[in-house]
Amino acid sequence: MSKLRVLVNGAKGRMGRETARAVRAEGDLELVGEADLGDDLAAAIRSAAAQVVVDFTHPDAAAGNTETILKSGGCPVVGTTGFRMEDIERLQAISQELRRGGLIAPNFAIGAVLLMKFAAEAARFFPDVEVIELHHERKVDAPSGTALKTIEMIRSALDSGGSGNAPAERPREKETVSGARGGRYLGIPVHSIRLPGYVAHQEVQFGAPGQILTLRHDAPSRACFMPGVLFAVRKVVALERLYYGLDAILDL
Ligand code: NAP
Repeated sequence: MSKLRVLVNGAKGRMGRETARAVRAEGDLELVGEADLGDDLAAAIRSAAAQVVVDFTHPDAAAGNTETILKSGGCPVVGTTGFRMEDIERLQAISQELRRGGLIAPNFAIGAVLLMKFAAEAARFFPDVEVIELHHERKVDAPSGTALKTIEMIRSALDSGGSGNAPAERPREKETVSGARGGRYLGIPVHSIRLPGYVAHQEVQFGAPGQILTLRHDAPSRACFMPGVLFAVRKVVALERLYYGLDAILDL
C-alpha cells in the first residue's frame, strides 16, 4: 500500500518540528516536504506531489496558505490560529468548488475539544460565563483560536436556549484601568494571559448564585496535539469539504 504523502509548512517552528517528527514516526505516512517562511509553498506542494499539507505558521499567513494549499492540489490540515469567520467561509466555498477536503482546527488536543463541548453544554444552564486562556509569551495572536471557537460554541448554545439564557448585563460596571475586564467576543468576556512557563491552557468559568463551575484544560507539552493532527491527516483525503474544528470530523 502506498504511503500518504505529507508536507509540513512552518517546519522550522515549534509545532512544525513536532509535526514533522510525528509524521516520520508513522509507517503509513511519508514526509515528502518541509517548507517555511520565504519558500514558494505552491511550488513545494506540486514538486513533492503532496496529498496533505499541515500548516502551523503565522496568523497573518493562515488564510492565504490555506487557499494556496487547496489550489495547489493538497488537502489542508491547518492548525494556525487567527482566522476570521469570513475567511473560513470563503475557504469553505473554494474547497467545495474543488471538492477537496480539509480541516482548520484551532486546537488538536482531544482534551481541549472536550472542554469546548462541555462548555457549550454547561452554558445552557449557566449563562454567566468568562473565558481565560493562558499561553507562552511568544504567542502572537490574542485571544487564542481555541478561545474564539469556545465562545462561538457557547454563543450558539446560549442563542438556541432562548432569550432567557443571555449573559447578565452589568450597565453600572466601569473600568478604571482600560482592559481590566478583558475583551468581548460575541458578548462574552475573554482574558488572555501570556507568560513564560505556560504552553497552552484554557479555563472557562461559569457563575450562578452560590456556585462556580470551572472547566480547565492544560497542555504543558505540544505532544498532546499530535494524535489529533495525525487523525486529521489520515481523514481529510477522504473528505470533500473544508471543516472547522476537530470535533466536526471526529465522527465522520
Ligand atoms: P512558531 O514556533 O513561531 O512557528 C511558526 C513557523 O512558521 C516559523 O518557523 C515561522 O518562521 C514560519 N512562518 C511564518 N510565516 C510563514 C509563512 N507565511 N509561510 C511559511 N512559514 C511561515 O509558532 P508555533 O508555536 O509553531 O505556532 C504556529 C501556529 O500554530 C500559531 O498560530 C499557533 O497559535 C498555532 N497552534 C495551534 C495549535 C493547534 O492545536 N491548532 C497548537 C499550538 C499552536 P519565522 O520564525 O521566521 O517567522
